Amino acid sequence: DQTYRKEVNITQPYIQGETEDEVRRKYHLDKVVKLGSNENPYAPYYHSKNAMIHSISTLNRYPEDDFVNMKKLLADETGLKPENVALGSGAGNIIETISKMFINEGDEVLIAKQSYRLYREVSKLMGAKVIEIPLTADYQFDLDQFEQKITDKTKLIWICNPNNPTGTITDASKLEAFMDHVPENVWVIVDEAYAQFADHLSLANFIRYIGHKRVMVVRTFSKFYGLAGARLGYVLSDPEAIQAYDTVTEPFNTNRTAIAGAAAAMQFDKAEIDKTLKKILGDREGLVESLGLLGFTVAPSQANFVFAKLPEGAPDATTVVDELMKQGVIIRDCTPWGYPHHIRVTVGTHKELEFFLSKLTAVLAN
Ligand code: PMP
Repeated sequence: DQTYRKEVNITQPYIQGETEDEVRRKYHLDKVVKLGSNENPYAPYYHSKNAMIHSISTLNRYPEDDFVNMKKLLADETGLKPENVALGSGAGNIIETISKMFINEGDEVLIAKQSYRLYREVSKLMGAKVIEIPLTADYQFDLDQFEQKITDKTKLIWICNPNNPTGTITDASKLEAFMDHVPENVWVIVDEAYAQFADHLSLANFIRYIGHKRVMVVRTFSKFYGLAGARLGYVLSDPEAIQAYDTVTEPFNTNRTAIAGAAAAMQFDKAEIDKTLKKILGDREGLVESLGLLGFTVAPSQANFVFAKLPEGAPDATTVVDELMKQGVIIRDCTPWGYPHHIRVTVGTHKELEFFLSKLTAVLAN
């Protein structure tokens, strides 16, 4: 282990997973299907793509106007004001900035043990004492435990809804009851990277707390809008918190091309985006059904990926994931989260999923 700033022990880098190129070269494959990073397999959309191409001729300028326009678009969409919106280079960058702005040495931070890993790493990096609370057996945030673990030193609570890697959401009424019990000085940061894939009636509405409670809602253009490679995310909160965020982050923390693509998608690609969402949700249903037929136990997914437990008697997740990689399919092994018999599979295109399922069937038969 190496010791970096603030004597934090960094034991493992953030797991990005294998790239398609790496797998192609390593196993001498022609075809590799990547279902390991919860990306949108279809994007960018028509207007989004054209706006990005066009934006390149303006890259000599800082994106000042772009920030103003984008904040206004997002405010209109969420029913908030531009002062309630800040941008970042993806939700990951925003999560890091939030840690910088809030956490002092010795502060306590609550996270779910089986959730997006970045919360733990960046909180630790800022000197927080990170308290990890296991999910319940049905993959919900154990809010009773969260409440019990709140002390005078608690600064932040990270909530991922829908949660990565389980794809599940936590019951809205439970989250609302929990919010009533969070002390006034504690901040709740809700990561909604996958919110657009969830059933809106079941998903807790955290935006309505802004202005009343200490809440920040983080979202991204990486998933639903298919702009993972462009790097754009946003955060919604009260104006003071947004101002503090904009003070801590670097002046222009995302770029003109990403904003151009995102703004065009929001304004002109709605119909296409709607169609794609329906396709992804339909294929998610098909994937859940097919995995069920193969003997998997699949968690109820509210995201663009599914989390599934291997059938009884099957090899462990690491073995299955390695075997699939040799056959040209990249999925995620959930062992690092403490789930040695679970895999996480992104809802790719119908064809990609058929390829995955045929390889998976062969791997399980061996
Ligand atoms: N939050 C969650 C829960 C995620 O799964 C991811 C990406 N996999 C991110 C944030 C970061 O996304 P991005 O930086 O691409 O917006």
